Amino acid sequence: MAATRDLVNADTVLPTVRSYIDGGFVDSTSGETFDAVYPATNRVICAVEQAGDAEVDAAVASAQRGFEVWSMMPAQERSRILLRAVAIIRERNDELAYLDTLDTGKPVAETTTEDVVTGADVIEFYAGLIPTLHGETIDFPGQGFARMKREPLGVCVGIGAWNYPIQIAMWKSGLALACGNSMIFKPAEVTPLSAGVLAEIYSEAGVPDGVFNVLQGDARVGQALVRHDGVAKVSLTGEVSTGKQIMSDAAGTLKAITLELGGKSPIVVFDDADLDSARNAALTNNFYSSGQVCSNSTRIFVQRGVYEAFLAPIADRVAALQVGDPFDPATTIGPLVSAEHHDKVMRYMKLALDSGARHIVGGEVPVGDEFASGNYVMPAVFADCTDDMEFVADEVFGPLMSVLVFDTEDEVVERANATAYGLAAGVFSNDFARANRVGNALQAGSVWINDYGTLPASVPFGGYKQSGIGRENGANAIEYYTQVKMIYSSLVPVEKYM
Ligand code: NAD
Repeated sequence: MAATRDLVNADTVLPTVRSYIDGGFVDSTSGETFDAVYPATNRVICAVEQAGDAEVDAAVASAQRGFEVWSMMPAQERSRILLRAVAIIRERNDELAYLDTLDTGKPVAETTTEDVVTGADVIEFYAGLIPTLHGETIDFPGQGFARMKREPLGVCVGIGAWNYPIQIAMWKSGLALACGNSMIFKPAEVTPLSAGVLAEIYSEAGVPDGVFNVLQGDARVGQALVRHDGVAKVSLTGEVSTGKQIMSDAAGTLKAITLELGGKSPIVVFDDADLDSARNAALTNNFYSSGQVCSNSTRIFVQRGVYEAFLAPIADRVAALQVGDPFDPATTIGPLVSAEHHDKVMRYMKLALDSGARHIVGGEVPVGDEFASGNYVMPAVFADCTDDMEFVADEVFGPLMSVLVFDTEDEVVERANATAYGLAAGVFSNDFARANRVGNALQAGSVWINDYGTLPASVPFGGYKQSGIGRENGANAIEYYTQVKMIYSSLVPVEKYM
C-alpha cells in the first residue's frame, strides 16, 4: 500500500485491499471481492478481497507461531517495540486519519485530532504499564509457597465496527499485544482501509511476523474466526445482536469474550446545572461523527424548571453546524457511513416527525450539488419526547437528539435506567451530593458528572447490561487478556496417605 504514504484525499483511488498474514499482504483464495466506497459521493475507492477459509486457517497458524515468539519476549522488549509503533503512528497521523475519512466520511477535523491520537494513546499506555506488572507469592511457612503469574491467552481475535476503524484496531491490538498475545483483526467490511496500514507499521516497528494479522471480509470471516479451535479469545465492537451471535458461537469452544456493544445513553440536566455546559455536552455528544458513536448521549432529560431555557438556543446552534465535505477542515458534520445506514437513519427521522414530538430543527436531506450523491442528513433535535417513542428507545446511530422533560430525581433515575442498554450516562448539577447520588444510581459502565465523553487511555470503558461484557482501556482490562497461573512448590516431602 505504498500509495497511502502520500496524503489521501477525496479523489484517491487505492490498489485492491488484501489481507495481511505473517508479515505481508496475501492474495485471497475466495475469488470474491467487494467495494470500498467514499460516503460523501458513494464513488468506489477500491476493491477489497474477501478472505477465504484458507486465509482464516493461515492467519490462525501464523498467529500461533507469532505467539510462541512474542509471548517469550521480556515485557520490556515488547514495550520498546510497541512504543516504536506509537512513534510511527503519530508520525503518520494525518495519512491514517485521511484514510479513515475516506472510508467513513467523518470530517478530518475529527479523524486527525481524535481517532488516531486516542488509538496511539492506548498502545502507549499499555506499553508503559506492562513492564511494571509482576506476579504474587503466598508463603505457607515450613510447607511451601505458591506463586501466581499472569500469562497471555494465545491467539486473540479483534472484530471491529465501522465508526472508529483505526482507533478500534489500536485499542484492541494495543492491549492484546502488550499482554503477550497475538491478534488477528477483522475490520468492518464497510471500513477496510486503515487496518492493513497498521499491520505494516507494527511490522516496521519490529513486531514479529504473525503477531498482528489482518483478515478482510464480512461476517463470514468473523464467524469462522469465532468458531476456530485455534483462537483463545474474541473481542467485538459492534451491535448487540452481533454480540449475542458471537457469544453463542464462542460457546462451542468456550472462548473468552469481550463485547463492546451499542447504547442509548442519557444525560440528566438538573435545574441547578450550568446550562451552557450541559447544552455543549449534549450537542457534541449527539452530533460528533454525525451521531455514529456508541456512547452518544441520545436521551437528554431536562428538569422542568430549565427545560425551555435549555432548548431556546438549540435550533440556532444546530443550524450553525457546518455540514459538507469531510476533507474541508471547517466541516463539523460529514455524511453517514453508507447508503444503507442512511436509509435506516432516515426511517427514524420520519418516525420522529410522525411521533407527535416537537420538531426543533433538522432531519432533512440537504439540497445542493455538494450533497447530491452522498449520504447526508441534517442534524435533528426533537423535544417533548416520551420514553416509549421508537426513535427514543432504539439505538439510531445517527444525528438525532431527543429531549425529554422530568420533575424529580427518583423519576429521572428510573426512566434513564429503563433500557436494556447501559453504556454511558451523564449528570449535570451543581449540587455535589445529588450529582454523585444520581451518578451512583445510573446503570452504566461510564458516568460523567458535569462532563460527557472524556476518556483518557487510563480509564476503563465498557457496558453494563446489554451494552457489553468486559472492559477496554485502563489497567483493569489486563484481566481480560491474561489468565492467572498458580504454581505451588513444596519444601517438604509428600507424606504417605494411601
Ligand atoms: P455490526 O455488529 O454490524 O458489525 C461489527 C463487526 O462484526 C463487523 O466487522 C462485522 O463484519 C462483524 N460481524 C457481524 N456479524 C458477525 C458474526 N456473526 N460473527 C462474527 N463477526 C460478525 O456493527 P457495526 O454496524 O459495524 O457498528 C455499529 C455498532 O457498533 C453500533 O451498535 C455501536 O453502538 C457499536 N459500537 C460499540 C462501541 C463500544 O465500544 N461499545 C464502539 C463503537 C461502535
